[in-house]
Amino acid sequence: MKQQQLIDRLGRVHNNLRISVTDRCNIRCFYCMPNEAIQFKPRDELLTFEEITRVVSVAAARGVNRLRITGGEPLVRAELPDLISRLAEIEGIEDIALTTNGVLLADQAAALYQAGLSRLNISLDGLQEETFQRITRREGLQRVLDGIFTARQVGFEKIRLNAVAIQGITEEEIIPLAHFARTHAFELRFIEFMPLDSEQRWETSQVLTGAVIRDVLEAEFGALVPAERPDPSQPAVDYDFADGKGSVGFINPVSQPFCSACNRLRITAEGQFRNCLFSTVEWDARQLLRGGGSDEDLAQLLHDCVDHKQPGHGIDSPGFEKPERPMYQIGG
Ligand code: SAM
Ligand code: SF4
Repeated sequence: MKQQQLIDRLGRVHNNLRISVTDRCNIRCFYCMPNEAIQFKPRDELLTFEEITRVVSVAAARGVNRLRITGGEPLVRAELPDLISRLAEIEGIEDIALTTNGVLLADQAAALYQAGLSRLNISLDGLQEETFQRITRREGLQRVLDGIFTARQVGFEKIRLNAVAIQGITEEEIIPLAHFARTHAFELRFIEFMPLDSEQRWETSQVLTGAVIRDVLEAEFGALVPAERPDPSQPAVDYDFADGKGSVGFINPVSQPFCSACNRLRITAEGQFRNCLFSTVEWDARQLLRGGGSDEDLAQLLHDCVDHKQPGHGIDSPGFEKPERPMYQIGG
């Protein structure tokens, strides 16, 4: 029997679930994690693969058909391909994507592809090792590049490069990244820096907006041509390059919020449902999973979470309250 869909008070239909599988990471991007003294969740607090699979089955029966695996860095979670293959078998799941920093991708790309992963987003903020180290406070750009090309070799057709844009740090990376993506036929998306860092360093002045990046690209490559928008809930606004070679997208959560079409729900690595990156409230699925709750109870929790979704994140409103948890604990 078809169950009730996850529709909120504004009529937004939630078919997209982002699953964080760990809060751990092998690098330390300043916009997401502290550099040291990090208190990771004890491993027994993280949802097991069985628990994640159960949550997804309940969500899929309520209309969720797209998943994104994230973290922390999802590739540091042991046996990840096993989870992907379990999720790929769930009735109703049509698309499973993964967001990764790419450092461990060369070793795991083939197993992930064979397990049924549909798409990869790889974070690449620049092409210079110096920029990489300034942002991540670790070495490793070459490993990320190896990961990107290995993923292509093993069969991933849809590879998207995500670049967080930061005023004073990544301006010089914009044009080289665009050349790189065009040359190798990768999709490229620029993301505005959001107030989800753990060191309270975010300031509006550090946001390199999509509009500024677009001007830089147009000066180099000619006018960008607005691309078709097959999925109105997609966060990015996409453009084609004037010469028809490749496209570029902008995710502008700060300067152009897209909350009115948001269809996304999240579950943190330790099993808390969230209805927004910026939500200050969570719904405890782990307690239900480990306390004998039924699938109906889990579904009700999902509906409660959806019912409480706010119209928008309010970053630019005077009463904006930054979530207590930084990005790595939520799952981007
Ligand atoms: N570790 C993986 C990675 O970096 O791709 C997955 C998790 S990461 C939290 C997901 C995405 O969020 C990455 O593309 C990352 O660059 C982005 N991100 C992290 N903190 C951000 C922030 N404060 N503002 C904008 N994007 C951010
Ligand atoms: Fe790790 Fe991703 Fe956060 Fe960077 S953005 S610290 S790679 S979880």
